Amino acid sequence: MLSCIHQGPRLAARSVGGRKALGGAHFLARRLSTHDARYAPTSETVAEPSAPSFAWSPPPLTQAEDEFWRAIPLWSEVSSADFLSWRWSIGNVVETKRRLLNFLEAVVPAEVPRDNAFGGIQSRDEFMADVCRGIDKSAMSVRMMPYVLSRINWQDPANDPIFRQFLMLESVMIDDHPKLRLDPLDEQKDEPVPNLVHRYPDKALFLATSVCPTNCVFCTRSYGVGASTQLVTKKSFTLSRAKMEAVFKYIESQEGLHDIVVSGGDSYYLSPNILEWIGDRLIGMKNIERFRIASKGLAIAPSRFLDKADPWTDALVRVAEKARRAGKHMALHTHFNHPNEISWITERASLRLQQSGVMVRNQTVLLRGVNDNVDTMLSLIRKLAKMAIHPYYVYQCDMVPAVEHLRTPLQTILDIEAQLQGEIAGFDIPKFVVDLPGGGGKRPAYLHESYDRETGVSTFTQPALKGRSKEGRTYRYYDPVKPRQDSAV
Ligand code: SF4
Repeated sequence: MLSCIHQGPRLAARSVGGRKALGGAHFLARRLSTHDARYAPTSETVAEPSAPSFAWSPPPLTQAEDEFWRAIPLWSEVSSADFLSWRWSIGNVVETKRRLLNFLEAVVPAEVPRDNAFGGIQSRDEFMADVCRGIDKSAMSVRMMPYVLSRINWQDPANDPIFRQFLMLESVMIDDHPKLRLDPLDEQKDEPVPNLVHRYPDKALFLATSVCPTNCVFCTRSYGVGASTQLVTKKSFTLSRAKMEAVFKYIESQEGLHDIVVSGGDSYYLSPNILEWIGDRLIGMKNIERFRIASKGLAIAPSRFLDKADPWTDALVRVAEKARRAGKHMALHTHFNHPNEISWITERASLRLQQSGVMVRNQTVLLRGVNDNVDTMLSLIRKLAKMAIHPYYVYQCDMVPAVEHLRTPLQTILDIEAQLQGEIAGFDIPKFVVDLPGGGGKRPAYLHESYDRETGVSTFTQPALKGRSKEGRTYRYYDPVKPRQDSAV
């Protein structure tokens, strides 16, 4: 990307200037006019005999709902109607070298602080070159939705908890742990048919697409998600309907399978008709009792849930309702990592889902310099709970390529879990888990069999997994190698 130089071998694989203060009667009147047209209850939102019976009605707007994206100089004239539309968002995704360079040129000030771990400042040119080198060393290609870009503090990007999830500075990276593998959870070894990971007795993971609206640098599935990079040639998950039928045939053949996760990639990139078709097929299977649609969309492009011109949310709501009528259960599983990801748009989108009867659960990844402290995690959990999003899991970061600087020792997750108990109702305390390297599945972090804090090696067993050489097996998680101590270049 950019003018970066290839830095390593490929792994084989299958106001800121002029933020507008938009309070006041004039602004509110203008906002009400745009929002009235988009969100006021109309005959479209009233139940029809053949349509789902969700009747979504927004609360009154407040002056706190500012047009924060106008702080980005390139978007200073972008209206609410445009910013909230999925079509505009897709048209302004940053995923090419030229677009990222143009964006950084416009948004990064002449000097920015370095990562707090090193101190000092960088010029804009040094910062952009650092980003370029980071991209060349990443397993994930760059892809960022405008909403995500608008939530970053560009005055101090190196220390911003959102920036750190989606772009990397080469100067803060450290060498990968020697035990690291491209497919750290051995998902491909647990595929009875292509694109279906069947590891646990009663549930399976259906990888229906390779595309995500925004690519996380720490993605567990970096062997297949996103475009190929200089480091990794990707295996695509994208399927034809015929291949999906092979997946469904397998699911139907397994009496013990009751629960399916539809993921990838991100279900936001399943077209609405395919999403509904998948939902219909799963609902129609006698053995399937519940399923989840996995999408980070609510965290990185929430306005889509408010866009009446886009049919994806209606398809999701219809599937949820059809599942309920069939006595089954569908939930949306999403992925927030930091409270800064949440805005009034997220709150409105969550409200729509809640009022439409769609249960939402959240899965968080524990990341150094992003959310690895009690205050941040508690703030995130409280905000999620307020939006009726169930904080389901906090994951220890998997041992994936090129993100050693983002991993935390096991001790961090143990400490955070211990300190959160009692801070909020028990049903809103997530499970703190390690997805065991080598295909052992999720295991609560506190259930480690041993943990040598000197060597950083923890061991786990997974009694629920039988056969395939998993019975009685010991799985090891390795703390990250020590962060680099030299000053950033
Ligand atoms: S949203 Fe999930 S699947 Fe997509 S890049 Fe991020 S971690 Fe990977």
